[in-house]
Amino acid sequence: MHDHFIRPNISLKDHTSIKIGGNAAYFSEVDTVEDLLFLVDWAHQERVPYFVLGGGTNLIFSDKGYEGLVIKVTGKKFSLLPGNRIVAEAGASMADLVEFAVQHNLSGLEWAGGLPGTLGGAIRGNAGAFGGEMKDAITRVAVLAPDTNQVEILSGDNSKFSYRNSIFKEQGGIVLSAELQLTPADDPEKIKSLTEEKIAYRQTFHPMEYPNAGSFFKNINNPQAIERILYRDNFLREDVEKKWHHKIPVAVLIAELGLSGKKIGGAEVSRKHANFIVNAKGASAEDIVITSGIIKNKMQSIYGILLEEEVEFTGF
Ligand SMILES: Cc1cc2nc3c(=O)[nH]c(=O)nc-3n(C[C@H](O)[C@H](O)[C@H](O)COP(=O)(O)OP(=O)(O)OC[C@H]3O[C@@H](n4cnc5c(N)ncnc54)[C@H](O)[C@@H]3O)c2cc1C
Repeated sequence: MHDHFIRPNISLKDHTSIKIGGNAAYFSEVDTVEDLLFLVDWAHQERVPYFVLGGGTNLIFSDKGYEGLVIKVTGKKFSLLPGNRIVAEAGASMADLVEFAVQHNLSGLEWAGGLPGTLGGAIRGNAGAFGGEMKDAITRVAVLAPDTNQVEILSGDNSKFSYRNSIFKEQGGIVLSAELQLTPADDPEKIKSLTEEKIAYRQTFHPMEYPNAGSFFKNINNPQAIERILYRDNFLREDVEKKWHHKIPVAVLIAELGLSGKKIGGAEVSRKHANFIVNAKGASAEDIVITSGIIKNKMQSIYGILLEEEVEFTGF
């Protein structure tokens, strides 16, 4: 690794799914732990902050970019181990891992069909969909520990996974690789069809025609908040109990507030799925921030609910 692998002034638009963001002052792609350690050390010596980037599918970088070093984790190797386990580097795409599981007739990742991004990003945020979560499959995580910069191995239990959260999100650390425990399936066709079903669902119901960063806000699962919403919108009660498993999808409420299709500059609240704020036409990060602020304000004043972002803002 030499200094010239650290490139100055690289557009972050090109590294995020929502295609927004100014430049990173410094940018580097790494696929080995040695190079990663070099970069962390370099940032420390240059006294600049660093930010770890996976697939950039859950991020909004500010219009002024990132005044530090963006390290894109690109190691993508993975393999099958005895006992139906997959070991994979953090930069492996979830799409490749899901496909690999299907090919080897292994069950456990069907829910992740169509989930964008890398393994590292999915572990940090305990990504989930259709009732599945990363925590169901992850048995071990190798992480470059914050502060010490030593490689540590954590079990799935010690990774403290919860709804869109983990010890890595709470305490930092760079996920290097992980082990996933899957189970052999009786019927290969079933794994394939369940996975393809999820991919098709996303293509139908998510606004894939525009750049986006996935669901913008976390769904509501706090019982008190749910009661407050039902006090106003009692007609949702049956769906909460029977269809949504005691959660309320934020998309339903945003649509109820009449905000579907709301446009600010190039940003738009999707008409297809109101919990997506899409980059409809050359949106700036500021357009996105204002749009999300309008949603949050109205949600607070009408339902008394403070929404929490699922996407992450960086460099603001
Ligand atoms: C169309 C669409 C649909 C989506 N659907 C879902 C869904 O159903 N469920 C869901 O949970 N999410 C969903 N997302 C959001 C996103 O895909 C996931 O959160 C994904 O797991 C993020 O992975 P990433 O590699 O893109 O992370 P990035 O966006 O690159 O980064 C996200 C965070 O993870 C950190 N990070 C990345 N790599 C590492 C690493 N190796 N070590 C430590 N930290 C790291 C970054 O610093 C950042 O804080 C969706 C996004 C899109 C665009």
